[in-house]
Amino acid sequence: MDKRSDQLHIYFLPMMAPGHMIPLVDIARQFARHGVKATIITTPLNASKFSKTIQRDREMGSDISIRTVKFPCKEAGLPEGCENIASTTSTLMYLNFIKGLSLFQNPIEQFLEEDHPDCLIAAPQFSWAVDVAAKLGIPRLAFNGTGFFPLCALHSLMEHKPHLKVESEMEEFVIPGLPDTIKMSRQKLSEHLKDEEETPVTAIVKDIMRAETTSYGAIVNSFYEMEPNYVKHSREVVGRKVWHVGPISLCNKDNEDKSQRGQDSSFCEQKCLDWLDTKEPKSVIYICFGSMAVFSSAQLLEIGIALEASNQQFIWAVTQTTINEEQNEWMPEGFEEKLNLNGRGLIIKGWAPQVLILDHEATGGFVSHCGWNSLLEGVASGLPMVTWPLSAEQFFNEKLLVEILKIGVPVGAQAWSNRTDSTVPINREDIERAVTKVMVGQEAEEMRGRAAALGKLAKGAVEKGGSSHNSLISLLEQLRNIKTSSN
Ligand code: UDP
Repeated sequence: MDKRSDQLHIYFLPMMAPGHMIPLVDIARQFARHGVKATIITTPLNASKFSKTIQRDREMGSDISIRTVKFPCKEAGLPEGCENIASTTSTLMYLNFIKGLSLFQNPIEQFLEEDHPDCLIAAPQFSWAVDVAAKLGIPRLAFNGTGFFPLCALHSLMEHKPHLKVESEMEEFVIPGLPDTIKMSRQKLSEHLKDEEETPVTAIVKDIMRAETTSYGAIVNSFYEMEPNYVKHSREVVGRKVWHVGPISLCNKDNEDKSQRGQDSSFCEQKCLDWLDTKEPKSVIYICFGSMAVFSSAQLLEIGIALEASNQQFIWAVTQTTINEEQNEWMPEGFEEKLNLNGRGLIIKGWAPQVLILDHEATGGFVSHCGWNSLLEGVASGLPMVTWPLSAEQFFNEKLLVEILKIGVPVGAQAWSNRTDSTVPINREDIERAVTKVMVGQEAEEMRGRAAALGKLAKGAVEKGGSSHNSLISLLEQLRNIKTSSN
């Protein structure tokens, strides 16, 4: 390991949400493997989710550590222990959580003043981090957890506002100025984009955008070969300094790292592997909707019925957040046994070892909500996907998978789903049709071929000499130059 006297010290400040923390912790680990002294700042509860992994990295020689700061739950009007956005259940709680992030400034600023690192990599939600970094005279890089295509699409919408010129929520419009012709409708966009008047949420978003555009640059968990035109567009049209370092999930090489990623799921690691080992290659579809999705009981049942009818073998992760009620309530008596009949399905209640499952050779498809991490993890494993976007930038991500990369089959989601929805927006026929289309037949074969080729490129990107590896090296060089010239 490269330990020179000019060793860079970088502070990492991830947003406390699984979809942000998981990749930024991996990025910090990857930086440390390149000789950087990496310090991750988070709250005690969040730290406990990845401290074992960091300890293992330290034993392997990485200079990486965690500093914890108590989250000001009480001061922010949140219940004790609400240290992660996944624990918020209403807009008010969400707003309070963001308020908590600003109360975080003082203790973190103190750490920074004591340690005087060479760079701060922070989620844009910590908008104050720009000013704090400026005060210390160090660069601040933004990491917002998504990819180039959604960032470019969002930039175009904010710039040209085509969604304000259509007459209905359903009417389609082209996102202006992108390298591909991509259509959208208002119902697939977040409320904050549609609100012409300032609300508490739009004010937060504006603050985040300001933090992004005034940062030194941004780190993106993606790789050049997947979205080359959008890497260029980000640099040349959006005008950002960007470095792609992904797919970062590929830094998890062994099963222990994979199964403890995000949360410890070692309890079901062996069960999943034993089950998958009995299956033919590419014969299992994996279903998971990330860390934040909430479905109605009726919608979950509809998925179960569709899986049964599809005749496909499956692993279905029903994480704690997927369901509001008691874990089993949505399943009629005997339904789980029926679904599991002859070992055809495995239902995981709790946090699934997603990367471990996706990487297994028996896995042949992925039903995903198109969260950016899941998208990239599916791509890195060379899998075609059924796309079921729910919110955030997921409807853009679906476009990338289906229309640009041509490795996705849409389930037919047309609008944002909300957490309290008790309806069934997607019916069993549509789910069964999409699952079958991704797993069986000529079209499935062709998609699988394209996905496998992309998976190979993803792995190549993070290897020595690959595009993401080179991008990381060049960023480190720039940061070293800044450090030297400011000394
Ligand atoms: N994840 C996991 N097990 C689960 C649910 C999610 O490992 O049971 C991980 C998944 O691999 C991904 C992250 O959680 O890295 C979810 O991020 P994503 O961007 O896909 O969705 P979000 O949760 O932000 O909506």
